[in-house]
Amino acid sequence: MAETISTFNCSADSKNTAYYAIDTHDSIEAKITGAHSVHRSKSWQNPDLRRQFFSSLLLALEHHKAALKTIYCSESSLSEARFEREFHRMLQQIILYSNEGWLWSKHRESVNLPDRFLEKHWIPIGPVVVFGASNFPLAYGTLGGDTVGALAAGCPVVVKGHSLHAGTSNFLAEITAEVLATHRLPSGVFSHVLDKGYEAGQRILLDERIKAGAFTGSISGGMSLFKFAQNRKNPIPFFAEMGSLNPVIVLRNSNSGVENWKNLANAVTEDAGQFCTKPGLILVPIERLEEIKFKLREELERNPSYPMLHPDIYNKYEAKLKEIDPIIPILRYTNHTPWNGDRAIASCTLQDFIDSPILHEEVFGPFTCLIGYSNLEEIERLYCCIGGQLTTTFIGIHPEKERIWSIAQEHSGRLVVNGVPTGVEVNRNMHHGGPFPSSTDVRYTSVGEASILRFLRPITVQFSSTDL
Ligand code: NAP
Repeated sequence: MAETISTFNCSADSKNTAYYAIDTHDSIEAKITGAHSVHRSKSWQNPDLRRQFFSSLLLALEHHKAALKTIYCSESSLSEARFEREFHRMLQQIILYSNEGWLWSKHRESVNLPDRFLEKHWIPIGPVVVFGASNFPLAYGTLGGDTVGALAAGCPVVVKGHSLHAGTSNFLAEITAEVLATHRLPSGVFSHVLDKGYEAGQRILLDERIKAGAFTGSISGGMSLFKFAQNRKNPIPFFAEMGSLNPVIVLRNSNSGVENWKNLANAVTEDAGQFCTKPGLILVPIERLEEIKFKLREELERNPSYPMLHPDIYNKYEAKLKEIDPIIPILRYTNHTPWNGDRAIASCTLQDFIDSPILHEEVFGPFTCLIGYSNLEEIERLYCCIGGQLTTTFIGIHPEKERIWSIAQEHSGRLVVNGVPTGVEVNRNMHHGGPFPSSTDVRYTSVGEASILRFLRPITVQFSSTDL
């Protein structure tokens, strides 16, 4: 009998009843072979065909929306309103990336030299393995930005479905398979693998027919897979978007009012703070520490608490708070609901923060750390401990004139002025990534049209003038 996995509903505090078969050695082999033969045959390299497929996929997703919502909510404990936002974003990504893929397939850069003609164009990198995130089952999941970006670039994709939302992942895979079949496209264009542990994902990544990998999740998971990709006989690019503390720096010249603290507190607590851009670190002028702490605490206390995605994530969050608390005391607001993440805040001096490595890592949940600074130069030392970040946010006037601006720029993928880092717009001008450890390749974004460049490679064709 096939081995199976099941999922958990934190809102209902119960196991979901459906079971999903995990892949065998043979089925994984067949899926990699399928992806490889699609790439070899170039059957997925027709941009018009891809656009037709994506149009049908959009309709199919709309058609299955209600059923998808039921599974999504029961597996992630995220709300129906959040489903709507994520569903819309998943469709938006399909539309934008599909167009972008079409544009790149036509894009040529050429030059006529006295004795030769050079033409550069962009081709699909080859079969891609995608490891989706737990916290965005749609937007960063099985049919999320990485998968759709790779497909739009003309690459076949093998998705390692996230075990915490195996049902959502499986359902999206079934919908995609159905649309491929309707268009008489080979099933190897998109395949989906479920596993009980890490073996299947590692095996796919190590297969020499796979030419790139994309990942969203923890630093430990991302780095482990990155090393696999680098240590292959034929190393391949592995684009991992990992953890980030997303510092928020309140400048001395800021005259921020209640609205700012409200927005900041919401960014910490919404959906139990399970966002890669959650502000995990708030730096304030030391003389305003008590005032701002008071205001933030008020807002945190007022905000609702939310269930976490899964007991494992809840347990990791609890363990992290227990590790931090003896070093820097934590104030917690609980509503005594099983699996809800307690809203939590700690405060300390910059030196205490620097001396406590446990605080230098992302705490995935509704926790933030408030730090009083004496002068902005001190913050440079902080970046030396935390390294690269997805975002840095400034609250205040003309931050670009401060030296800290260039330090933050050196360490961040996105700078936010007088806003919050959460809410990553899917847009051509978005950069979602950053210096290590926030991602493994600082040059590329995992959100926005430019994200598909991860899955294309340039090639130059050179003719001698006599051949023309
Ligand atoms: P994760 O544990 O890193 O897992 C992401 C995906 O990679 C899953 O499919 C997982 O497999 C797989 N995986 C992880 N480590 C692996 C390894 N060593 N070898 C092969 N495959 C591996 O991330 P998560 O489950 O989404 O959340 C766990 C933690 O990640 C959170 O507590 C948080 O700290 C962090 N996180 C960060 C972000 C972000 O955007 N920065 C987003 C989500 C989570 P399984 O399905 O078998 O687990």
